[in-house]
Formats: sequence, structure tokens, C-alpha cells
Amino acid sequence: MRPDILNPLFTESAALKGVGTALAKPLARLGLDRAVDLAFHLPVAWIERQKVRRLAEAETGRMIGVVLTAHDYRASGSARAPFRVRAVDEAGDPISIVYFGKNSGWPRKLFPLGEPRFVSGRLDRFGDDLQMVHPDHVVELGEAGAIPDREPIYGLSEGITNGRMRELVAQGVSRAPVLPEWIEPGLKSMRGWPEWREALASAHEDPGAKAARERLAYDEVFASQLALMLLRAQTRRRRGTPVQGDGRLRDALTLPFAPTGAQRRAFGEIEGDMAQPIPMLRLLQGDVGSGKTLVALMALLNAVEAGGQGAFLAPTEILARQHHASLQALLGGLSVNVAILTGREKGKVRESILMGLADGSIHILVGTHAIFQEAVAYKNLALAVIDEQHRFGVHQRLMLTNKAEKTPHLLVMTATPIPRTLTLTQYGDMDVSRLDEMPPGRQPIDTRVVAEARMEEMVEGLGRHIASGRQAYWVCPLVEQSEDGDERAAEARAAILRNRFGADQVGLVHGRMAGPEKDAVMEAFASGRLKLLVATTVIEVGVDVPNATLMIVEGAERFGLAQLHQLRGRVGRGDQRSFCMLLHGDNLSETARARLALLRETNDGFRIAEEDLRLRGAGELLGTRQSGEQRYRLATPEQIQSLADAANADARLLIDRDGGLKSERGEASRTCLYLFERDAAIALLSSG
Ligand code: ADP
Ligand code: MG
Repeated sequence: MRPDILNPLFTESAALKGVGTALAKPLARLGLDRAVDLAFHLPVAWIERQKVRRLAEAETGRMIGVVLTAHDYRASGSARAPFRVRAVDEAGDPISIVYFGKNSGWPRKLFPLGEPRFVSGRLDRFGDDLQMVHPDHVVELGEAGAIPDREPIYGLSEGITNGRMRELVAQGVSRAPVLPEWIEPGLKSMRGWPEWREALASAHEDPGAKAARERLAYDEVFASQLALMLLRAQTRRRRGTPVQGDGRLRDALTLPFAPTGAQRRAFGEIEGDMAQPIPMLRLLQGDVGSGKTLVALMALLNAVEAGGQGAFLAPTEILARQHHASLQALLGGLSVNVAILTGREKGKVRESILMGLADGSIHILVGTHAIFQEAVAYKNLALAVIDEQHRFGVHQRLMLTNKAEKTPHLLVMTATPIPRTLTLTQYGDMDVSRLDEMPPGRQPIDTRVVAEARMEEMVEGLGRHIASGRQAYWVCPLVEQSEDGDERAAEARAAILRNRFGADQVGLVHGRMAGPEKDAVMEAFASGRLKLLVATTVIEVGVDVPNATLMIVEGAERFGLAQLHQLRGRVGRGDQRSFCMLLHGDNLSETARARLALLRETNDGFRIAEEDLRLRGAGELLGTRQSGEQRYRLATPEQIQSLADAANADARLLIDRDGGLKSERGEASRTCLYLFERDAAIALLSSG
């Protein structure tokens, strides 16, 4: 239960003074649903208002406050021309105050002719004249004192002004109680951090309040680290079963290649973990094509040899089917029973799978989240492998481990190379194995960055490519704003390309297609009947068609770098030279250009991740990767990075030295967890 002391902060914004239906939408759009969200809605910038007596003393381009008297109006002659109020300062120097829009009623009301007003706004030069566009304050002289020299600027959305936002934020802040301290006293004084309540208030009042902002960020990072640590402790408290296969299946495996050193090392680490009576919680990080599937298979066979079952969870149906197929191919004639279960298996088929799981005749089950649904009961689930962690939050993980009486060992695989510095904040509760070595003989993918203006050339090249018997992917851009934008863009592109190359040559897959339909298209592409596959990012992970050696990505600048790198990993899977064309729109920013250039330069996913971190900061990286509970609302990516170590050490100290959550500081820390809604950890707290 949330501590009562936090209740005022968690009331809905709708209950605040002056929030009517008109503000509901913009607030919802900004995610400011409750007072606490408003209180944590920190200023993004500050106005420093230069109050002057004469315009001649003021700098253009700055926010100023000055007394002006209107002497005439210039109504707009056309729909586009603005309405102008012509005014002078005390010394008689002229300025135009400019209003766009049709309604000239309110500027007239704000500026009665001949009456002085205190006006605040940005002073601009327009040709030889001074002007001010849409001043932010126009008040009678008596009220000038109420306009501060300095004002916070908040993130806004259509339908809410900064002034309104300020009022609401102030209401949010006023609901913040004085909270007991959770930060270790030594750390707090060393950093010179204020109390929480005070820190919150000054973060909204004082642009120089660095320590205050830092403290607020720290609190969030601390909550996050503590949550991860509790999760880890919880998992470690559970009983697992030591799993130690005798190697008979693994020895009988005939692989067409020798495992890489990295694969061997990872497998050794996994084997070591699985032999323990504590459930394994390990993350396997490896670039696209680094051979994670084999590592998973070895771990699964280890479980089967020891008389247990394995579950292999994939994020999409396509991938589940591919994993199923590649496991069976690797297993050859070995007598290991691998079944597949997705939303598609229904009726009798599903029944018989459920029975096989219950009686143990199915050794390995591959599937989508269906494999962890209520009705699915395993005889002896020893290992769960989850492919592509970022689609699964801590919550799902907990659900999974809660299913079995004894917690199964857990291996999570991700193709997203995460910089070392971020692993702690994202996966602080897991042990990590890295596949930092590619199987031999991989050809680097020849990557080029091309302006979309050269689309026609691309399409011609694509024609030659297909004519030579090879296949290609065409990835359509992410379309934000509308819910099904991605799909529509892909459909439109597919129509154009079908027109060009023939409908029987071009397939289309997107996220909204039904499973069977999607699989049929993928199958047709994998078998070579389709030459070109137009897709949204549903092909992002795992799909393997070696004859596809060209990828064209439209709107490449709109993708994350790591995501592009993953996409690109769909080609270069065979022994032929492969190409990736990154098409971008005009007006590419410097950073965007540098990012795309990086992909051209290197095929090393870990390096790309490190560089992306440097170029964009951790935000984007974390942003796309944040699953559920690990979302940060307050701490900037830079802060997360710089504070993670201290927060980690502090959380450890709390648990190891300061009596854990039962101590006084522990109680306070519990409040901190609730404040930042670390749900999974809170679920653990309430389950004892
Ligand atoms: P990931 O899932 O990490 O992206 P996969 O497991 O799909 O990569 O492996 C990519 C390809 O590399 C597969 O075709 C696989 O058979 C092959 N492969 C895996 N390990 C090796 C190895 N040690 N040597 C050569 N090829 C390998
Ligand atoms: Mg894979």
C-alpha cells in the first residue's frame, strides 16, 4: 500500500483547481495525469526578463519588460498579414506589437490607445523597426510587480499556455509533503543535496539550483537501483533446482561449424549458473548473427539431459516459427521432442501440446507469450529462454518465475548491444554474458547513406538485383502520430513496387496482419517465391533469409541507430556480399548525418551503441529500450549515467548495512519506491 503521506501527490490532475475539460486533453497528452506528474514536470528552460525603462537600453533577441503606450492600430489587410499595435516607450521610441490570427479584438482590449501598459515579451528587430510578437504579459502598471524577473518555461502541448502550466505545476508542488530522508547521510552532505521537498520547490524556482535537480534525479536512480536489487534478492531467495546434464545430447549434436570462443565462454557461464540451487538470472548480449541460438540450444539441451523441460519464448510468431525450425535443424535426428505453441495453435493441436507438456513427453516448447499462459502447465520446467528482452518487462519476468513452484533458470537474450555504462541501470539485477566475437567468415555489410531524392536510382538498382536472382528487403519508415501510419506507409510503398516489379514478386508484412497471413508471406519470401519483402519493423529481430542480400531502409534518420543496426543484420547472413542502403530525407541535421555515417563505418554493434550514446546521449538509447518499470521521468540520461554507481552503492549499503527495508531509512526508501512507482519491486514488497 502506498504510504498515506503520498496520497495528496497522487490525486488526479482533474481534481486540481481550474482544471476543466479544456485542459484535460493537453494534460493527458503530456502524461500529466496526476499532481505528482505535474510536480515532476520540471522546467525545460528559463526566461530571464530584462526590465528596462527605455527600448534603447534593451538587447534585441531577449525577453524584456517595458512600459509601452499604444497610439494606433494597423489592422491586417490580408488574411496572412498580422494585426499590429503601434506603441512608444517613455522616451517616445517606437515599436510594433504583432498579433497573428484573425481576431483583433483582444489586442485592442489589451492596448487601449493612450494608456500605458507594462509589456513583457521578446524584443526583435524587423528591418529597421523594433517589434514584439505575441507578448507573454500585458498588464496595467499596478500589476507590473507581479511579473517576475525570471520565469520557468515548461514543456507544453496545444491547448495549454505556459502561464496555466505554471499555475498547475505550482499546485502539484504544493501537494508535495516533507518526506523522511532515504539518502545515506554521508552521501547527502558530501554532495550538498537539500531535503526532497526543498529540492523539488527550488528546481521549479531557481535555474541555478543544480544540487536540487541532481538530488531529484538521484532519488529516481536510487529507486530504480533499489528496485532492481530487491528483485534480484527475491529471485535469489527462491529455490531453484540445480540442473546438470550429462552431455549425452550435446555430444551427439553434429554441428556444421565449431562454436566460437565467445559462445563457449557464454555457455560455460550458463552451465555454471544452472548447476546452482539458486535460479539463474542471466542476460546474453550478442549482436545480430553472433550465434545466440546455438547458446540457447546448448542450455536447453543441458536442461533436457537432466530430465527437465525447456521453454523458448520469442517476441513474435514469425520468430517463434523460425526458432522452432532452426532448433529442429540443429538437432537433426536427435530424439528431442520440440513443439511450438502460439496463438495459432488451437483446439485439438493445442490440447495435445498441453498434454505433452504436462506428461513431459515434450522436451522443449518454443512459442510466443502463449507458452506462459495460465492453462500451460509443465511437468518440470527447468529453463526458460527469452529472446529479445526489450519486449519483456520486469513484470512479465516475475509472472513467469512465479508460475513454477520451483523457479526455473532464466536466460534472457538480446541483440541490442548496450554500452557497459548502461547495463547497470537497465539490467542491474542480472548477470551478463556477452558474445563479443562473430562467427568466422562473415562479410561486412556494405552500407551506404543515400538521399531520398535518388529514390528512382535505388529502385532501378533494386530491379537489377532482383533480376539477378537475389532477394531484398524494403523497410518503411516509422510513422508517428497516427496509430496505423506504419502500416499505411508500407502498403503504399508495396503498391508502388508491385506496380513496378509485378504483384507476384513483392510481399508485404506489417504488425497488423494476422499471424497466419504474415507467416504465409514470410514463408513465401524465405522459400524464394517472393523476391522483395516490403516491411515495417516487424522484421527487426531474428528473421533469417541468406539469399536476401540487399536492404533498403526508407526514412533511415527516423530510426534509432541500434535499431538500424539490427535491421541491417537481416542481410549478410549468407556468404554473398550484402548491401544496406539508408535513405534519408532532406534537411538532415548534423547529428543525424553523423549517426548514419557511423553505420557506414562499422559493423560492430557494441561500438555503434557506445558511439550512439556519445552522439545522442543515453536518452534515446534508454528511451527505446525502457520497458515498463525502468522508465525514468525525471533523471536525464546523463544524470542516470553519472549517478548510477552512487545509487547502486547506496542501495547496497541500505540492504547490507543499514537493516534493509525494515529500518527507519528503509521505510523512507520504501516511500521513495512508491514515489517513483517501481511497480515490480512494490509488488514484491506487498507479497512479503
Ligand atoms: P543471432 O540469434 O545471435 O542473431 P543466430 O543464432 O541466428 O544469431 O546465428 C546466425 C547464423 O550464424 C546462423 O545461421 C547460425 O547457424 C550461424 N552460426 C552460429 N554460430 C556459428 C559458428 N560458431 N560458426 C559459424 N556459424 C555460426
Ligand atoms: Mg536470434
